[in-house]
Amino acid sequence: MVKETIRVYARVKPLGRRQQAGSYSVDNEEPLPSLEITVPRELGDGFINNKRESYKFKFQKIFDQEAKQDVIFDSIAKPVAECVLAGYNGTIFAYGQTGSGKTFTVTGGAERYSDRGIIPRTLSYIFDQLQKDSSKVYTTHVSYLEIYNECGYDLLDPRHEASRMEDLPKVTIMEDSDQNIHLKNLSLQQATNEEEALNLLFLGDTNRMIAETPMNQASSRSHCIFTIHISSKEPGSATIRRSKLHLVDLAGSERVAKTGIGGQLLTEAKYINLSLHYLEQVIIALAEKNRSHIPYRNSMMTSVLRDSLGGNCMTTMIAMLAMDKRNIGESISTCRFAQRVALIKNEAVLNEEIDPRLMIVQLKKEIQDLKDELALVTGKQRTSELSQEELLQLDELIETFLKDNDPDSSLDVGADMRKIKYSFVHMKQIINHPMTSGNKLLSQDISEEKNSNEELEKLKGLLQQRDNEINILVTMLKKEKKKARDALSQLNASSAGSTGLEQSPSMSLEESQSPSKCFSLKEAKVLSSSIPRLPLLSRATGGEMSLGCQEAFEVFKRDHADSITIEDNKKLLKQRFDEAKCLGEKLNEVRNKINHLKGKVIQRQIQRAAQAVSNPSEELTFDPVEENLRMQIEEEKKSYKTVYSRFKGLKVEIEHLQLLMEKVKMKLQKDFEIWWAEEAKKFQQEKSEMVTSPNTVTVYPQFTRSSQQLSPISFSDTNRDIPNEDPAVKKNSVTFGSPTLKTRTPPPSSSTSIPLTGDSQADADILAFIKARQNILQKKGLGNK
Ligand code: ADP
Ligand code: MG
Repeated sequence: MVKETIRVYARVKPLGRRQQAGSYSVDNEEPLPSLEITVPRELGDGFINNKRESYKFKFQKIFDQEAKQDVIFDSIAKPVAECVLAGYNGTIFAYGQTGSGKTFTVTGGAERYSDRGIIPRTLSYIFDQLQKDSSKVYTTHVSYLEIYNECGYDLLDPRHEASRMEDLPKVTIMEDSDQNIHLKNLSLQQATNEEEALNLLFLGDTNRMIAETPMNQASSRSHCIFTIHISSKEPGSATIRRSKLHLVDLAGSERVAKTGIGGQLLTEAKYINLSLHYLEQVIIALAEKNRSHIPYRNSMMTSVLRDSLGGNCMTTMIAMLAMDKRNIGESISTCRFAQRVALIKNEAVLNEEIDPRLMIVQLKKEIQDLKDELALVTGKQRTSELSQEELLQLDELIETFLKDNDPDSSLDVGADMRKIKYSFVHMKQIINHPMTSGNKLLSQDISEEKNSNEELEKLKGLLQQRDNEINILVTMLKKEKKKARDALSQLNASSAGSTGLEQSPSMSLEESQSPSKCFSLKEAKVLSSSIPRLPLLSRATGGEMSLGCQEAFEVFKRDHADSITIEDNKKLLKQRFDEAKCLGEKLNEVRNKINHLKGKVIQRQIQRAAQAVSNPSEELTFDPVEENLRMQIEEEKKSYKTVYSRFKGLKVEIEHLQLLMEKVKMKLQKDFEIWWAEEAKKFQQEKSEMVTSPNTVTVYPQFTRSSQQLSPISFSDTNRDIPNEDPAVKKNSVTFGSPTLKTRTPPPSSSTSIPLTGDSQADADILAFIKARQNILQKKGLGNK
């Protein structure tokens, strides 16, 4: 039993470029390091704050702004991981306001390999250690739970791809008669190696990201608990040791009101997140001596972490602090919370149990062995043929045995020679005729057929979708042609010109908008309501973007800030690939060398043996040549090992980089979809406004000349940038609005010219129009974040 208080660390997030530093100092020298924060006198909320206050907090260790992720892992997470490997439970939780670096610390940054957080590093460490220990049989599982608004969601539920988060069964808490907590609907996924575990983490993070929308910034208000479950058993023993490590990314701890009346900092205002409030209550109760009732049951999070907060667990907290001026108040609150947490004492005990099922299996086996022995000793052998039933039973036994991947499994048919013989014969048949070996293949055939049927259905659906899309595009083109013709005839008809110009867009407003968009109105409506919560993964495989949408996506991608990251990572990945290739070549080279040297040793030995035969009088003595060759082999082996371990490290790094790239790409796609849905919605709103207010329609064309009226994020003076090089064409053009294609520009404010050079050229014109639009998007920096 290990008794100790919860370890509490602090990590200060690096200041942003435009952030003003608050005043604080770190003293890591004292027996217990301390952090001092000074709140200067200043005007707050129009009142004068006369209290000049300085706060001092003690921590196990304080990591200042420059602390890197590897140091955080080594000092904070590694000791906990070691305890978990030894069979104790462990918990690490990150607490702090939104933006203070919790996710960065727990999961890591999505950009650089070196930014990997505690979870991937811990997985790597644990699997490394497990591999080294061959004395036990280990099984590892992971689970990933998100708690949002008191509801639990399984982030690893494979059905995420097909349905929306809220449609999946909720994770609920069950309590058994011993008051042990069980989580219903939370899947435990087996991970046999680091790669599988990282993939699961990636899957969960992606599901978390997808579920989030601009309206529902779930990540700052939800708690995420990634749990690694390890069980170990010595071969042949029925005692199982189980331990779990919770890695918790808590919801943002910010309070609703930052400053109270009189600019008083640190008002104990309501928490945004009630469950964090309950967490604090539990912590307070645990820290108080002689408290018999701890209010764990008040919230899902405290129930889940019940045995990890004040019980059988090695618990560690990281207080995440943002030390810029604006956030100093929140940071002081975080530190205060941390001080209370530091008072809690935990008692961690080894979680060992005897598995009754294993015990029964063991005893049964023992009985059977004894019976068999008895039969052999007494010489009682059955002589009649095996019955049909017995044969079937044997077949089943053999099949189960062959399917079982457990190296410990054995085929036990008893001490009956007829059965033993039959088993051998049956196995021989299976080996010689793998294609006819039983129902396995049959069922495979059926499932394959089922799969291909499903595939066919899917393809049919896709085809239908494509047909629809083509129809939409064709209609768009037709409308465009017609409109061009109408506009020309109207221009000719109206001698005054200006009235005609004002009227034409108003008349064909609704139509004029549709060709310039990639989707029709109806589609936009459907899109805006459905996209934000649709799982990306399924869309990546199923529905595809329309051409216009793709076009917009290309531009968006080019201008997105993350594209630099993608490029950087691509370069890095290429570099690593090249390095890996070089190392691979080197490995081959060393291997060849070793083989060559081995050949030489054998040659030498043959020579010496031949000599001994021809000169039997000469004694076989120590051969320095052979010794030298052996030494060379040893040297080469050493270098082989170093190169190989570097090669293996590179492989892990490359895999991680690939996952990172995938993540950034998904984020990009998601950003685009959110933007797209917003644009569609905006467009719809504007459309309905235009319908209700006739004024808008008359004012509309003038917008194109009035850049001052654009909103701050829109692009100014859109006319100038229309890439219509041919002045003759420009003279002949009609201007009308083309909303939604101009990113973040209120639709009526931008314009596009459609050259009207005659009906025969209509098609070419439309192409030119599309190209012009593309150029505008490009020049305006569409999608710049
Ligand atoms: P939280 O999860 O607490 O809301 P995040 O982890 O999302 O905060 O951090 C907010 C931003 O600050 C992210 O862009 C993150 O990459 C960055 N960040 C946080 N901590 C660090 C750090 N130690 N070094 C570099 N960037 C950091
Ligand atoms: Mg976060």
